Amino acid sequence: MVLNELGQSIAKALEGIKTANTIDDKVLDACLKDICTALLQADINVKLVMKLRTNVKTRANNADKGAGLDKRKIIEKAVVDELIAMVDSGGDVKTVELKKGQSNVIMFVGLQGCGKTTTASKYGAFHKKKGFKPALVCADTFRAGAFDQLKQNASKTQIPFYGSYTETDPAIIAAQGVEKFKKEKRDLIIVDTSGRHKQEEALFEEMRQVAESVQPTLVIFTMDGSIGQAAFDQAKAFRDSVEVGAVIVTKMDGHAKGGGALSAVAATQAPIAFIGTGEHMDEFERFEAKAFVGRLLG
Ligand code: GDP
Repeated sequence: MVLNELGQSIAKALEGIKTANTIDDKVLDACLKDICTALLQADINVKLVMKLRTNVKTRANNADKGAGLDKRKIIEKAVVDELIAMVDSGGDVKTVELKKGQSNVIMFVGLQGCGKTTTASKYGAFHKKKGFKPALVCADTFRAGAFDQLKQNASKTQIPFYGSYTETDPAIIAAQGVEKFKKEKRDLIIVDTSGRHKQEEALFEEMRQVAESVQPTLVIFTMDGSIGQAAFDQAKAFRDSVEVGAVIVTKMDGHAKGGGALSAVAATQAPIAFIGTGEHMDEFERFEAKAFVGRLLG
């Protein structure tokens, strides 16, 4: 399913409801069939899709019992609510609560270019404003210039950082950085790991080693909001290697509607925590499921 096709297909299916003369079972079933097909094609978990279908049908049937209610509106709202529930809950993974004063270790993973380094710094800056004491560790030894980029962002946001120009083992750097900042009583130690252009076994092996050495409180999967179909497989490959606890979708300031994000949520079973909305350090927001679904269908 290509970019935005998911949102368009759902919007089109809802249009059928809006334009039908009467809403009988046949019209509703046809609409739900189209919505479910679109969701399944976007690799959304079949259980979640069936749940949406059942819940919308129940609400539509209940509408029949109440006189004077606008069935069209009820169905439309039910679909939107169910989509919101789908992206909001994420699935099985409980949101990790970060407590100030404890040494929370946050590990960022994702493909190269997805905005990982930028997002790690934004995440630090966001939490600094909330009273946390963040620190940044550059465990990306793969991309030349990664440490300099992190340093630059860290200086902009005035967050302490750690990295090395000579050490080549990311697991060692990560462990050193985390240890240093734990001693310094930083309570949000953010570890930026290296990405690759595509899912490669070497990347996953390295990620596992870094995770092993720093024992993260939370692993955040960062993904580019403009990827469509590839999102599910990509997210799943990461989740199969490390325990992803949250997703951040970047580059939502562009034309991307972020349909791929729904698939990433389905693949990781983890909720979307934040979105990136620009290149600057403060262009970062908490994820709002309602606004996201509105944009997806809009
Ligand atoms: P990494 O390879 O995953 O660490 O990616 P970088 O953090 O280096 O980001 C790659 C490019 O994407 C850089 O030019 C960033 O400025 C840009 N970028 C990151 N996040 C966003 C975002 O939310 N919106 C926009 N427009 N650009 C972003």
